[in-house]
Amino acid sequence: MTIPTTEGSAGTGAYRVLVLNSGSSSVKYQLLDMSDRTRLAVGLVERIGEETSRLVHTPLVGGGAERRERTGPIADHEAALKAAAEELAADGLGLDSPQLAAIGHRVVHGGLRFTEPVVIDDEVLKEIERLIPVAPLHNPANITGIRTARAMRPDLPQVAVFDTAFHTTMPEYAARYAIDTETADAHRIRRYGFHGTSHAYVSRRTAELLGRTPEEVNVIVLHLGNGASASAVAGGRCVETSMGLTPLEGLVMGTRSGDIDPAVTFHLMRVAGMSADEIDALLNKKSGLVGLCGDNDMREIRRRIDEGDERAALAFDIYVHRLKKYIGAYSAVLGRVDAVVFTAGVGENSAPVREAAVAGLEELGLAVDADLNGVRSDEPRLISPDYARVAVAVVPTDEELEIAVQTFALVGQARGALGQVHN
Ligand code: AMP
Repeated sequence: MTIPTTEGSAGTGAYRVLVLNSGSSSVKYQLLDMSDRTRLAVGLVERIGEETSRLVHTPLVGGGAERRERTGPIADHEAALKAAAEELAADGLGLDSPQLAAIGHRVVHGGLRFTEPVVIDDEVLKEIERLIPVAPLHNPANITGIRTARAMRPDLPQVAVFDTAFHTTMPEYAARYAIDTETADAHRIRRYGFHGTSHAYVSRRTAELLGRTPEEVNVIVLHLGNGASASAVAGGRCVETSMGLTPLEGLVMGTRSGDIDPAVTFHLMRVAGMSADEIDALLNKKSGLVGLCGDNDMREIRRRIDEGDERAALAFDIYVHRLKKYIGAYSAVLGRVDAVVFTAGVGENSAPVREAAVAGLEELGLAVDADLNGVRSDEPRLISPDYARVAVAVVPTDEELEIAVQTFALVGQARGALGQVHN
């Protein structure tokens, strides 16, 4: 993507972007300086609407500045954003600053319509609302964040960056479920995929790490956080991903089952008398690693395995087995694989998961060097031995930076002021 850099988004000297990630009871925010892509402040407001709301704000400018914390009731998203704005203003980074070029919002579901980030207007907002039935847990909170931010700075461009957008290049045969076409179309049932901002960023950074352009490489991205998804990216375009209509499909996750025979759901309805909502909660919140062994933190699971805990060991094996199946499947989908890359909390930090996921896959050209795999670092790095045909890499994800980059690029383009450009 071509982006404006030091000239500011319209040659106006406005070069800051505020990134907002609004959840149902939380707002995460980051203010970035796009002239050098540094972070000026980061913060989180959590437990919105409760008595015990908490705001944690960390200024990253003016050396020596310390993290600040507020506790006490924050009634709603409007109050949360106001509180965040006050903290930013206290650091001289207020939302009324002329240096603020735009606000970039993470929006989980963009359906088929939004294949790229868009500047938000009333019509865009309506369309995001129309998608609520396919993203009931996420889009309403994203919409609240957008409405609140627009009310605070109605004059400022606000951009929606969609989690699904990167996956809209999937071919129809990968995106469709093999169910009755009329039913599927009537209810917009298809595979959309999520974590797209991360898959886009990480696949591009992996190409850079290999000294190639995104168009030249085929990459399997394993985004292993509390939520987890895999994607197959051919020449910079996503051709397959593991999450589907919702983020429930695919890999074993912290609290989600991932792939499961759909008949399990009606079996539970008929035999266990469970309601749709109860099964929804079971599969989304009480399954995956937590359902298997009671813990969803990979650090804790590894600690228990070291102490000889068999349930934790089985949970680990199930997690890794699923990962292996996806690496194999996506190798077949891509035909030629240049890199397998690990990212997000587990992927970036758990050497045992990386080692176990790749073990025994030498026939696919995959191997991990134990020493390189053991190195702790925040930098993108290769962990495969020189002789391996396929590179294995660890690339820390940065969804906020990617949202800021896309937001700044769009605002710059919209104003027709590209200034200095680079990739
Ligand atoms: P994320 O959703 O990307 O923030 O990832 C969160 C998950 O990353 C946690 O639930 C842990 O399972 C995992 N994680 C974080 N730090 C570590 C670590 N040092 N070693 C192993 N797993 C980690």
